[in-house]
Amino acid sequence: MLPFLRSDLDLIRAYKAHPGSNTSQPVASTIDRLDTNESPYNLPSELKQKLAWTYQEVIESNRYPDAGHEELKAKIAEYVNESANTNITGANISVGNGSDEIIRSILIATCVGNEGSILVANPTFGVYAIFAQTLGIPVISLERSPLNFEMDLAAAQLAITQTQSPPIRVVFVVHPNSPTGNALTTNELAWLQSLPAHILVVVDEAYFEFSQNTVVNQLAQRPNWLILRTFSKAFRLAAHRVGYAIAHPAVISALEKIRLPYNLPTFSIAAALVALQHRQLLLNVIPQLLAERVKLTHNLAQHPALQVWESAANFIYLQLKTKSSCTEELLNLVNEQLKAKGTIVRHISGGLRITVGSPDENQRTLDRLEAALSLLTPISF
Ligand SMILES: *Cc1c(COP(=O)(O)O)cnc(C)c1O
Repeated sequence: MLPFLRSDLDLIRAYKAHPGSNTSQPVASTIDRLDTNESPYNLPSELKQKLAWTYQEVIESNRYPDAGHEELKAKIAEYVNESANTNITGANISVGNGSDEIIRSILIATCVGNEGSILVANPTFGVYAIFAQTLGIPVISLERSPLNFEMDLAAAQLAITQTQSPPIRVVFVVHPNSPTGNALTTNELAWLQSLPAHILVVVDEAYFEFSQNTVVNQLAQRPNWLILRTFSKAFRLAAHRVGYAIAHPAVISALEKIRLPYNLPTFSIAAALVALQHRQLLLNVIPQLLAERVKLTHNLAQHPALQVWESAANFIYLQLKTKSSCTEELLNLVNEQLKAKGTIVRHISGGLRITVGSPDENQRTLDRLEAALSLLTPISF
């Protein structure tokens, strides 16, 4: 440990989006990358050409980016209003270098300096807790029901009333949750609505375009709610790192104070604008992806060794139905077999999270998973 570093950094491990891979080489296109929930489809080449033209003819690479994002925020607001009967404007939007950047800004704005703790219900998106730890913010973690992954609301309420010094300032939920794919229930939503004004409720809608579940229409009455969305999933722009927050203008002003001045490169701003302009073209593959999810879920659920949950997003979560006490080792074996055959999935929280890919990728997922399970069955079930 270097003597000038904070002692608690020793306990934190760097975030790895691809825990299974230790190479920085681009993965060959013959590998099915189904571990990070991106769209299986690249931007159409007509849009890439348009962006290439913008780079060639419009972008001045010697100039700093637009620091205020006014145009992008106005266009995002227009898109958000399409999804709900709302009157969102650019003043309700803050744009980040991925929604990850906004998650960090939220933590800085609310909890840093021993002002607050955060509440999460596991399994869920790991970034909230990891970023909190790097900022010295305490994380209160609850466990979800192992049957349907609903939150234990009695335990959550108890955590809110009992956590002192510092008290809980932010509750993070994903709607629908990752890695488990379940949307917030009516009870969970009612509990979130019951939280007092001094607690910020963050609803991460990274998978909105797949689920069509949104709480945007609640924002008008709820100045303590914030919605996160991203261009990294359905909009096919993971390479460009663009995410956004939707909230009351006062919350947005706080985030704007904290974000880095030129947080979004000019080319990423251009890519997000092009994606919004052509959203119909980009989003019209979603019904096909959802049909693939239904088919894949159904086919996986036929396997006697698999417990598969319904998902409202573009990924599927499953566990092994095994009486063995070494579930993690068995999952590791399955995961390694899949990887050896060229399918990369996410081994997380005692299960596998598998992104819905193209029809060919999904067929290979089924075949390879079946082959991997057939190697285990005699010993473990
Ligand atoms: C993928 C994902 C994001 C997106 O993060 P970006 O930084 O915008 O790429 C945010 N939240 C959840 C829950 C996700 O799964």
